[in-house]
Amino acid sequence: RKWSREEIIENAEACDVRFIRLMFTDIFGVVKNVEIPRSQLEKALDGEMGFDGSSIDGFVRIEESDMFLIPDLDTWLVYNWNGEGGRVASLICDVDDQNHLSFLGDPRNNLKRVLNRLKDFGFTSFNLGPEPEFFLFKRDSNGNPSMNLNDHGGYFDLAPTDLGETCRRDIVLELEELGFEIEASHHENAPGQHEIDWKYSDALTAADNIQIFKLIVKTVALRHNLHATFMPKPIYGIAGSGMHFNVSLFTEEGNAFYDPNSDDQLSDIAHYFIGGLLKYAKGYTAIVNPTVNSYKRLVSGYEAPVYIAWSGQNRSPLVRIPAARGNSTRVEVRSVDPSANPYLALAALLAAGLKGIEDQIVPPHSVQRNIFDMTQDERSHEHIDRLPETLKEAIFEFENEPVILEAMGEHISRNFIEEKTIEYEAYQEQVTQWELEKYWNFY
Ligand code: GLN
Ligand code: MG
Ligand code: MG
Ligand code: MG
Repeated sequence: RKWSREEIIENAEACDVRFIRLMFTDIFGVVKNVEIPRSQLEKALDGEMGFDGSSIDGFVRIEESDMFLIPDLDTWLVYNWNGEGGRVASLICDVDDQNHLSFLGDPRNNLKRVLNRLKDFGFTSFNLGPEPEFFLFKRDSNGNPSMNLNDHGGYFDLAPTDLGETCRRDIVLELEELGFEIEASHHENAPGQHEIDWKYSDALTAADNIQIFKLIVKTVALRHNLHATFMPKPIYGIAGSGMHFNVSLFTEEGNAFYDPNSDDQLSDIAHYFIGGLLKYAKGYTAIVNPTVNSYKRLVSGYEAPVYIAWSGQNRSPLVRIPAARGNSTRVEVRSVDPSANPYLALAALLAAGLKGIEDQIVPPHSVQRNIFDMTQDERSHEHIDRLPETLKEAIFEFENEPVILEAMGEHISRNFIEEKTIEYEAYQEQVTQWELEKYWNFY
């Protein structure tokens, strides 16, 4: 909903809010917050809350570190729980630099910049319905997270197998109180794995909601003595966690992906958008799959995509078109995982899709077969290429893709490549348990 400055001040008083978290997101997708007591609320609403940007990964150097948090009033949220010392509320903020100019190293500001391009194409909004998956692990007697899963249930299982059900229900109730319109909530394929889906909204709101969602999931899980993780592949041999992105473009007339008169009831715009998503897939993979662990998920056999193709129903390709049409017509991007920064992921996917529309990129034929069952020859014959296999390869593709570099902007691109290269190299030097078991005795 919409909030004015005065309404927020009144509401804070009426709800007896004691602390306000001013939140923003770093390039790794991690929520940061500066907590202020209510006495500082007016100052914060006036955009006068400063913080040290040099302590945030991928932001700025020490010599230019004075930054300001500019709250987006419409993100005002009062939480139901009483933390130690009183009620807590939050505001999601944009980041200004020391001269009070919009700081483009801030992923949320950057997404707004890319969203501005919608107007040039005559679109009124870019919408997202995300499908985040996560695991619940038990905590030990000291409250520390363990590697023991919370249950041994499977897809759509019911209690008593599904011990996570009470926790998941509490998460849903909490989210509903905060205004989320929850559409589905179920156990996923793997033991201990869950998914919660809510109604789509414009990209900026949806990205904000993903950040709030993760916070709520972790907080409620802790209350149940569980540890919730959005790591893409916590356990070898079972499914990993994705965060499918269902995206669509709207004009004044409604859903621009829908055309009742075409063969597949998808508009030319939808086809071009898909064309862009496939053409730039290698370039944006580092953004939507940003960790070394992401690539342990993108392997065959677990409903995660490996190949760059699209399909009507089949769940093996990168892009799937769910059966719904009319205003629900959408494109499901299946590679995105929950370790992705949602603001960056949306900026990248939108830029790829818009480039497809601009250049009228016709996608190759959709694939109706299970791509995992095809031979390498059959795939080559159909020109089906694969996604990058490692973070290193993905960074290389990103560095060489002007369309995605432009979507991230100079500042974010440079910092992202630098930080992710360090991350990959640190990982590459590790000697893993698997290697020890394989070679230690063998050689
Ligand atoms: N967990 C699967 C993935 O990694 C998705 C499973 C599903 O939603 N059908 O993307
Ligand atoms: Mg789903
Ligand atoms: Mg799922
Ligand atoms: Mg899905």
